[in-house]
Amino acid sequence: MNGATSNSPVIEPNETDHDAESRARSIRVLFSEKRIALRIEELADEIAAAMSKELVVISVLKGGFIFTADLIRALHRANFEPEIDFLKLSSYGAGTESTGDMNILFDLSANVADREVLIVDDILDTGRTISLARQLLVDRAAASVKTCCLLDKAERRLVDIQADFIGFPCPNEFVVGYGLDYAHRYRELPFIGVLSET
Ligand code: 5GP
Ligand code: MG
Repeated sequence: MNGATSNSPVIEPNETDHDAESRARSIRVLFSEKRIALRIEELADEIAAAMSKELVVISVLKGGFIFTADLIRALHRANFEPEIDFLKLSSYGAGTESTGDMNILFDLSANVADREVLIVDDILDTGRTISLARQLLVDRAAASVKTCCLLDKAERRLVDIQADFIGFPCPNEFVVGYGLDYAHRYRELPFIGVLSET
């Protein structure tokens, strides 16, 4: 399961940052760059088999941007020509049973009415973000809305929602890299891993 390769896994002290906290941390690889790339080719084929070429891909910011960038190029290899748009949401939330409480921090520019839409995000955790995004697109009269998340932390779900396309089931640990941050850092890592104290 461990995708560690000899050339990737560890952030060496001082290599990317100089603060004391990061010097005390390293990253244990859960999903290597290669493994992510292979899975994305498969996901693009799954999407291409299930959706039409005129789809609008909606990338959920910030975490979804790297996955989206790789996925749309895999869709291109599958002969798709997706339109791309971006959405940033914040949910209010803990403790509310409603899924209606949402703040749109950055809105779509596309008109999604009557369009086939694919929402793309990094990770499905409690499910709030994807369920809010999905509801927004339904409210705006999208013809159909499907969802694709690279990672699925099924154990953590609070909202009853599944993604239509999932890259990998994810253990219940806080992961970083490949778009996912910890305190605004680590998004640039080409792999996904878990911060661990050294
Ligand atoms: P949800 O709304 O499903 O609870 O959360 C989804 C969002 O929470 C993700 O898009 C991501 O931004 C953030 N998130 C959830 N789990 C993790 C994690 O393990 N690591 C990081 N970096 N972000 C996470
Ligand atoms: Mg996110």
